[in-house]
Amino acid sequence: MKFVHKAFNELWPEEELRQEVSVKYSGKFSDYNANVSYTPWKMQFRVSKTWRGVDEDIRIGLIQSLLVKVFKSKRYKKFNKKNKMELYEMFLKNVGNVAPRKESDPQLIESFERVNDEFFNGLMNMPNVLWGKHTLTKLGSYEYGNDTVLMSLALKDAPTKMLDYVMYHELLHKKHKFHHKNGKSFHHTTAFRKDEKMFKNAEQLETDLKYLLRKKKVRKAFFSFWRG
Ligand SMILES: [Zn+2]
Repeated sequence: MKFVHKAFNELWPEEELRQEVSVKYSGKFSDYNANVSYTPWKMQFRVSKTWRGVDEDIRIGLIQSLLVKVFKSKRYKKFNKKNKMELYEMFLKNVGNVAPRKESDPQLIESFERVNDEFFNGLMNMPNVLWGKHTLTKLGSYEYGNDTVLMSLALKDAPTKMLDYVMYHELLHKKHKFHHKNGKSFHHTTAFRKDEKMFKNAEQLETDLKYLLRKKKVRKAFFSFWRG
C-alpha cells in the first residue's frame, strides 16, 4: 500500500517500514472510524468506507495518526510532525457539522434540550441522539465523525437527572472536541473536567451512576464507562 509507506516516510525519513501493510475499507465501522492491528510482520489498517472519498492528504494524516500509536518506542519518539496530521484533526473536528441527520429519539431530544438550555444557552446544534445497545461498560459515547450521541439502553428507565448528566458529559465532547499532543489524543482535559463539575450535584450523580451499574450486577465497569 503506497500511501501507507508515504505516510511513514514523511514521519520518519531515516527509518524503513518493514511490515507488510494492508488497508481495508470496512462497512462495519461508523463514519470516519479507523483502527490498526499489527504484529512484527504485518500491519492492517481498517478504515470506514466513508474515508474512500476523502482527500489523500487527509487520509495520509489519518494513517500517520495511527502510525504514531503503533511506533511508540524511544527510537520513534521524534517524528516530523507535518501538517497532514493537523489537516486530519481539523477534518475530524469539522466533519460532524455536515454529518447526515438521523431520526433522533424523542426522550433523548428532550434530554438534549434541557441540557442545551441550561448549559449552552440553547446555542448548541443538536447532534443525532440515539439509543445504543444495553451496555453497562459504556453509558454513553460521542462520535465526532457522524456527530452522534449514543446512549446505553441501561439509562432508558433511569431518573431524568442521571440521563441528563450523561448527556451533558457527551455534549461536552462535542463542545471541547479533543486535542493531540505527541501523537496522543486527549479527550477529558482539565477544561472538560471543570465544565463537567458545573452540573448540579455532579459528585452525587457519579455515585448514583456507579450504584446503578452495581445494582445491575456488573463489576469493574465504571472505570471505563466514560470513554469516548
Ligand atoms: Zn468522555
